[in-house]
Amino acid sequence: MPEMPEVETVRRALDATVRGARIEAVTVLWPPFVNATPAVFNTAVVGHRITAIRRRGKALILDLGGDRHLLLHLKMTGQLVVHRRGRLVAFGGHPTANIVGPMPNSWTRVVFTLSAARTLFVNDQRKFARIRLVTTAELAADPFLSGMGPEALSDDFTLAVFKQRLARFRSAPIKAALLDQATVAGIGNIYADECLHLAHIDPRQPTASLKPAQLLRLHKAIRTILRNAVDHCGTSYPSFINDGHHRDSYLDHARLFGRQGQPCPVCGTLVKRIRVAGRGTNYCPHCQHQTMQSKSRRQSSRE
Ligand SMILES: [Zn+2]
Repeated sequence: MPEMPEVETVRRALDATVRGARIEAVTVLWPPFVNATPAVFNTAVVGHRITAIRRRGKALILDLGGDRHLLLHLKMTGQLVVHRRGRLVAFGGHPTANIVGPMPNSWTRVVFTLSAARTLFVNDQRKFARIRLVTTAELAADPFLSGMGPEALSDDFTLAVFKQRLARFRSAPIKAALLDQATVAGIGNIYADECLHLAHIDPRQPTASLKPAQLLRLHKAIRTILRNAVDHCGTSYPSFINDGHHRDSYLDHARLFGRQGQPCPVCGTLVKRIRVAGRGTNYCPHCQHQTMQSKSRRQSSRE
């Protein structure tokens, strides 16, 4: 499931390829994918330009000028493919759904024909992704978006705000609090584990029991990990993005992701996989052990 760094990677790729394009035609191949009938959807979007591509948490927002926006959730396997000057460029998608071949394919749900001979194919293998046509007022009132916590890399995400957002959680494990989109926008299973490892915090630790030094470390770790992941285009290689020359990936820098049973990159202890908050969770029993936390607290105070 794409998290903030992967969706931000898609946003930047779309920004570079389709921003400013005029929608000349739209074909809805699977009607449940959009929240309007194909006829209504067609009338609402054709003739408009994609003036901006924004992101909020894991959601993409395509501004169509005036009062119209397309709210896109990629969910598990949503994939965007841009056909431009005879080339196909794919963004996002499940590893097995990312085979870029002739478009449209059997997973194509919506096709946007754009100006300057560009075509945007919206594919989704598992049928969880959605596009919603919304007005500015509907966007502002969207309960999912308005309930979301601050963007991790924005100035709004201060330590004080983080503490305030965590105050709703008592005995729930800290990992559950991080997965809740109302705490910080865009963190999912992979980056929650990465952040807790960098912060030397056991993912099962009850949220209310976190000490001030731990909260400080975790806040700092969230910003460090997500900045690093965005810089490396998320866990995009090779499944998430395929533009023919893109090779950088956070996978080459991950601390725990995909490393269960392998040595922890910090201490060499084998990374364990457990279940926390209903999710498969990787952690290092040494670095993230309670007794290590006082040690790392001393370390971080020296930094
Ligand atoms: Zn370790």
